[in-house]
Amino acid sequence: MFDVLIIGGGMVGATLASALHSNPRLKVGIIETKAELLQGEFSADGRASAVALGSSQIWQKIGVWGGMLKRGVTPMHCIQVSDGNYSQKVSLLREDINEEALGYVIENQVTQAALWEFIKECPNIELICPAKIVDIVRESNEYLTVQVDSGNQIINLKTKLLVGADGGRSLVRNLAEISISEKLYDQTCIVVTVKTEFPHENIAYERFQPSGPFALLPLPKENRFCIVWTAKNSEAGEILGLEDEKFMQELRSRLGTELLEKLGTISLESKTRASYNPRWMHSQTYIQPRLALIGDAAHTTHPVAGQGMNLGIRDAGAIAEIILTAFTQGEDIGSMAVLKRYQGWRRWDNWAVITVTDITNRLFSNQFWLFQLIRRIGLAIASFLPFKKILMYFMMGLVGRQPNLSQKTRSQKTRSQNLETYPEIATISTITPKALRK
Ligand SMILES: Cc1cc2nc3c(=O)[nH]c(=O)nc-3n(C[C@H](O)[C@H](O)[C@H](O)COP(=O)(O)OP(=O)(O)OC[C@H]3O[C@@H](n4cnc5c(N)ncnc54)[C@H](O)[C@@H]3O)c2cc1C
Repeated sequence: MFDVLIIGGGMVGATLASALHSNPRLKVGIIETKAELLQGEFSADGRASAVALGSSQIWQKIGVWGGMLKRGVTPMHCIQVSDGNYSQKVSLLREDINEEALGYVIENQVTQAALWEFIKECPNIELICPAKIVDIVRESNEYLTVQVDSGNQIINLKTKLLVGADGGRSLVRNLAEISISEKLYDQTCIVVTVKTEFPHENIAYERFQPSGPFALLPLPKENRFCIVWTAKNSEAGEILGLEDEKFMQELRSRLGTELLEKLGTISLESKTRASYNPRWMHSQTYIQPRLALIGDAAHTTHPVAGQGMNLGIRDAGAIAEIILTAFTQGEDIGSMAVLKRYQGWRRWDNWAVITVTDITNRLFSNQFWLFQLIRRIGLAIASFLPFKKILMYFMMGLVGRQPNLSQKTRSQKTRSQNLETYPEIATISTITPKALRK
């Protein structure tokens, strides 16, 4: 019998598993369909994520941050927000809040590799991979039975708590018959990696174009960016099908003269172009007796503000703290009394962030004069330090209650080993968030 069985070993599910390593008496299982995660091969679709300072602090507390540092993370010193070619820009600076970074840009394959490297070494975590959940059976009040397809046979696993971390199309959520509210956008996000002539100077750019937002995330090696280009659905097919040279021409025309002068010649690094359809989705509930949803299984949002994964990491941190405390105090970790603490902690934060993100995307993708006026007034207001600071703390995931996850022996050992074994990360690891330096 498992204490906690997690379905989905993506960035959120694997974060929860690694956070639960600290109590060796807790028996944790993780079921993941992608065999490559267990084999240590991480498909590079080129995606990188803006990781909020709050998420990096959670990973530091768990002990997985060293694994990300040794593979390469890019601290963001500035995030510049602009409305097309309008001259007024908002520059969010690390100096404004006296931190050494506003957050980090990390390639998704780096995050996954560090998390899986960590959980593979945890004696209390069993990795069931490749395998996928097929059904959930409620035959007792004491546990759930989960039917799992492991390729050549169906196995039944019992667990006191089942956690669905299986992404936006969550089967766990569907099997539990939890309904959702959702809105689709008439937009497609195209992701590519580019090389620039001049260094990025650790600046991330968010340009709001008439067709939708355009994000440039600085990557390691000083002159690479991951670009998330949000295009209208009607034009996305054509853009995706363009030859490289024509594609780059279209891309450059959207960056604006000022940015092109700053970055110099830009060339395409990706061999393929990934595309995603953004979606706003919120589950009616995150919990049922012996079942909880976290990450994209519970909520999805437009990538414009780079918040989706960050919300999921906060879910993972919150439920981990609640499970660890309840387990130590001898409570039933799958009871509604315990799970309501998780829902009460996370649901409204998630709702607020995905709703503000939705409004921002709609406001900035509309060319009606009134919307244009509102956002220009908004940009002017956001340039004043007190408002800017509110915006920054919101984006950095530092608003509200932060999970308290204490590290135990294994994590401390892993972290110090990383610093000794990989001296090259020592320079980056001096970037310690202020909250952790206290
Ligand atoms: C273009 C783009 C850019 C983005 N940029 C950012 C950003 O900058 N910052 C940010 O915070 N967020 C960003 N996001 C959002 C972020 O990528 C997601 O919120 C995040 O990946 C969700 O992680 P997850 O682990 O909950 O789900 P997923 O990443 O979807 O992982 C789910 C896992 O469950 C497994 N699984 C699925 N079904 C089953 C099953 N039946 N049985 C077993 N396993 C199963 C899958 O194989 C997968 O490994 C972006 C999204 C997009 C599309």
